[in-house]
Amino acid sequence: MKFVDEFRDADLGRAVAGEILSLVEPGRHYKVMEVCGGHTHSIYKYGVDDLLPSNVELVHGPGCPVCVIPMGRVDDGIALAHTEGVIFTCFGDMMRVPGAQGTLLEAKAAGADVRMVYSPLDALRIAKENPDREVVFYAIGFETTAPSTALTLKRARAEGVANFSCMSNHVTIVPPLRALLESPDLRLDGFIGPGHVSTIVGARPFEFIPADYGKPVVISGFEPLDILQSVAMVLRQLAEGRCAVENQYTRVVPYDGNLRALEVMAEVFELRPHFEWRGLGFISHSGLRLSEAYADLDAERRFNVPGVRVADPKACQCGEVLKGVIKPWECKVFGTACTPERPIGTCMVSSEGACAAYYNYGRFARDREVV
Ligand code: SF4
Repeated sequence: MKFVDEFRDADLGRAVAGEILSLVEPGRHYKVMEVCGGHTHSIYKYGVDDLLPSNVELVHGPGCPVCVIPMGRVDDGIALAHTEGVIFTCFGDMMRVPGAQGTLLEAKAAGADVRMVYSPLDALRIAKENPDREVVFYAIGFETTAPSTALTLKRARAEGVANFSCMSNHVTIVPPLRALLESPDLRLDGFIGPGHVSTIVGARPFEFIPADYGKPVVISGFEPLDILQSVAMVLRQLAEGRCAVENQYTRVVPYDGNLRALEVMAEVFELRPHFEWRGLGFISHSGLRLSEAYADLDAERRFNVPGVRVADPKACQCGEVLKGVIKPWECKVFGTACTPERPIGTCMVSSEGACAAYYNYGRFARDREVV
C-alpha cells in the first residue's frame, strides 16, 4: 500500500469488519479505548464504529492535547498575555479554550498581543523581528510536539535570542494511562495505542499495560483501515487469550521510538513532580517543564505567573469524557449550551476533542438512532 486511498478502500474495510465479527464471542461486551484524539476524529469522520458489531464499543481516551489543559493554566496564559511588553504566541486551538477569565481570543480582543502560530519556530521568528518585546510561546502537547519545542529552544539559545521564552504545558502519555487503569470505575478490554506519540516514544513504553494489567495494546495508524485492523488485532489477542504490545503502524512507528528526538527532549525538559489535567486532577510525573540548563528561557521563571487553580464549571463533564466513562452526547450540555462556537469544555474546542468530533460528524447519526 502506497497511497492514502488504499487505506480508505470500502471493500477492504468490509472484509476487515467481517474478520472482526468472526473474532467476537456472542454475548460478550468488548470495550476498547482509542487513546489518541486523532483516532477519535477518524472514527467519527469515517463512521468506523458503524462497521463494528454492536457488542464492540470504542471508548475515547485522554490523548487530545488541548482537551487536557486545565482552566488554571489557561488563566495563567491570559495573565502572561496581559503582561506589559509581551507578545503571547500559541496554537490556534488554544485560543478558544475557556479559563475562568475567558479565553485567549477574548484577551486579544481586550487588547493583549496574542498571536496564533503554526509552530514554535514561528514564535521564534516573531521574537527576532521584535527585539524590544518579550515573546512567549505557550507550548502544549504530548511527546509528539515536545521535540519541536525543545529544538526551538536550542535554536533560540544558539542564536542568542534573549527575548524568547516558553511556558511549557507539555505532558507525557504513560502516567494518565496508568491512572486510568487504576481507576475502579472503568473496565476496558484493550487499547488502540496512540500513533502520533508513538512515533517519538515508540511502542516499548506501553509494555506495562499487558505486563501489569493484562490488557492488549495495538499501536495504530489513523486511516479507517488502520483503525479497523487494529481493532481486529486487539480482538484476536483476546480470542487467543494473550496480551502484548503490537505495532500496526509499522510504516511510521519504530518499536524503540525516535532516539534523537528523545535525546533532545531529555536535554531541554525535566519531569514536574505533578501536573494538573483537566478533569483528571493532579497526576505525578506527567508534565514537562524546562530543565535547569534552560531555566533562563522558562517563562514561568522569567515572569510572575499566578499559578492559579480553578475548578471546572459544574456543567462540564470533560473529565468523564476524557476517562471514557461517558460518551460526548451523554454530557448534559452537549450540543446545547456547549458547541464548537461557544465551548464550555475543552473537548468541544479541538478537532481532536471527542465532543467536537462527534458534534461535527456523528450528531446526525445519533439523531437517527434517537428517532
Ligand atoms: S459537551 Fe462540552 S462540557 Fe460536556 S464534556 Fe463535551 S466539551 Fe465538556
